[in-house]
Amino acid sequence: MTTPSSTSPEPTVKKASIASAMLPSILDLSRDRLTSTLIEMGEKKFRADQVWRSIYHETLGSFDEMSTLSKTFREKLKETYTFSALEQAMFLTSADKTTSKALYKLHDGELIETVLMRYETDGHRRNRKTACISTQAGCALGCTFCATGQQGFRRNLTVGEIVAQVIEMQRVARAEDEAQMAEGKRSKGDIQGVTNVVFMGMGEPLANYRNVIAAIRVLNDGQGLNIGARHITVSTVGLVPQILQLAEEELQINLAISLHAPDNATRSQTMPVNKRYPVEELIRACHKYADATGRRIFFEYVLLKEQNDSVEQAQKLGRLLNGLHCHVNLIPVNPTKEGPFERTDLTAAKDFQGGLKQYGIPSTVRMEKGIDINAGCGQLRERAIEILGA
Ligand code: SAH
Ligand code: SF4
Repeated sequence: MTTPSSTSPEPTVKKASIASAMLPSILDLSRDRLTSTLIEMGEKKFRADQVWRSIYHETLGSFDEMSTLSKTFREKLKETYTFSALEQAMFLTSADKTTSKALYKLHDGELIETVLMRYETDGHRRNRKTACISTQAGCALGCTFCATGQQGFRRNLTVGEIVAQVIEMQRVARAEDEAQMAEGKRSKGDIQGVTNVVFMGMGEPLANYRNVIAAIRVLNDGQGLNIGARHITVSTVGLVPQILQLAEEELQINLAISLHAPDNATRSQTMPVNKRYPVEELIRACHKYADATGRRIFFEYVLLKEQNDSVEQAQKLGRLLNGLHCHVNLIPVNPTKEGPFERTDLTAAKDFQGGLKQYGIPSTVRMEKGIDINAGCGQLRERAIEILGA
């Protein structure tokens, strides 16, 4: 979540009134499961394909909008499943329009955040729209610089709650593409909607492993949202057994490791998980992952002023990552309300980058996107609780 923007627009608050969901959500089903269930209900396979496309390709908002289906069949679906898993409680867009952040209320009142980041083409890469999604309400891992970590763990999100965030952002992104087309700023072939998904919102994806993998398979489906595995990034605090398990999934997704320190003493100060999976064990797992998948690993390194941002620490990190096919993202911390941390300035971040370069480790400095709308992980929920008394 990068590049700063200026003013702070007031949030538009929509009254949340979601009824507690008694029926299962259709969004929780894999494609195979949906097909077999609809066949059991007496429908033909092509009907299941139609329903799937209506939900994930056309991103229709309700069963009633599925006009290709008979009324009787739609009624049957309505009696069996709920449709939407999320109710929008807030939607903010940054002053520079690059970033939007939604706060969603779940059926049991939990609040989660989803971010949409827009990147213009830089000559090498085409325009991108990246959805940053949550996997848990809260998080149990307690990293001290993270607003979500400070809120504690509430519960895992269901598959439907995870994919619904991408569906919501797909609607927003497509509507913008279409508006631009109407203004002649975009051609029809340019309507892409969401192009990338990062699991970097609230929660630890690998602590909700099964649902995250199932959600990735839904996002991946070519007749649905069609987000290619290489355009999906899962970020983890470093849960070693799950990283090793992920290596066996034969998914071509990107893996990002939140490292944030070059040694155990520094890492344990801000990341309690380091006591369970220390740095050496984590890096060993990364080597195994890279060997098994042939994929480059991304390391995230939140720069905390005078804590983990010296050139010596950069060199230590360079030595630690030596021989690993990787890329480091350097992110000056987005200070949270409770946290004592300050951001490293750009000059110090560049010096840190220089230290890594001495060891041949490529890196990018990423400035925070959407600071004016509390786009940092868990921060909008905090603000919403103040505003809504939620
Ligand atoms: N739990 C996962 C994914 C969600 S957090 C993980 O920790 O990787 C996504 C990223 O945001 C992580 O790299 C996390 O360390 C980073 N992050 C958390 N709080 C931050 C803050 N205040 N400023 C900048 N980055 C932050
Ligand atoms: Fe959880 Fe990630 Fe925040 Fe750590 S940084 S508390 S793992 S969400």
